Amino acid sequence: MAKSLSPVCKLCRREGEKLYLKGERCFTPKCSFEKRSFAPGQHGRTASRGGPNMGRSSDFARQLRAKQKARRIYGVLERQFRRYYDTAITRRGLTGLNLLQILESRLDNVVYRLGFAASRAQARVLVTHGHFIVNGRRTDVPSMLLSEGDAVAVREGSGKLTYFKELGAFAEKRNTPAWLSRDLKSMSGSVARMPERAEIDGSLDEQLIVEYYSRR
Ligand code: SF4
Repeated sequence: MAKSLSPVCKLCRREGEKLYLKGERCFTPKCSFEKRSFAPGQHGRTASRGGPNMGRSSDFARQLRAKQKARRIYGVLERQFRRYYDTAITRRGLTGLNLLQILESRLDNVVYRLGFAASRAQARVLVTHGHFIVNGRRTDVPSMLLSEGDAVAVREGSGKLTYFKELGAFAEKRNTPAWLSRDLKSMSGSVARMPERAEIDGSLDEQLIVEYYSRR
């Protein structure tokens, strides 16, 4: 499985904001952004990286940052992100919203949104290890795109693992978005419909991402 090798918390510092990539830790004083909110590297405190207090504000810089931020939040590499954009263009409707819906429909994101993992990164690992089935079939592909009506469940054998035995209490505390339905008793869920814009992270700027790719 291809994945970004950058230390996770540095990504938040590079973007100049918390991206909540590490699950519960992000909500505690242990969050490294709380201690060091400047960009990483030798010139981090003064460098122009496009984030708050960082000075760089050309159109291109803002478009690039918007794209990088979305890529990092969903844990997608550049080539795959570009492929998602190319797919988004071919779909009916607004390209930006199409792109966000594609990102949201990834299996690792759905597992995270269902509350079966504390972060998308953890969801990716769980999926890769084969702990989930989609429509009754085992899969280990976190980037699998789900559609309306698709059903996700913890694999029967995996349900005996301590992690999944204790998952109910954790998952209960997490709200599931209205576009997904969840049954904690059977550790399963399904895609009721594609998410509307208001149900996706409001800090993402899909228009800037579209502008970024339109000029290339
Ligand atoms: Fe970002 Fe979470 Fe790390 Fe804080 S703990 S810097 S929010 S990934």
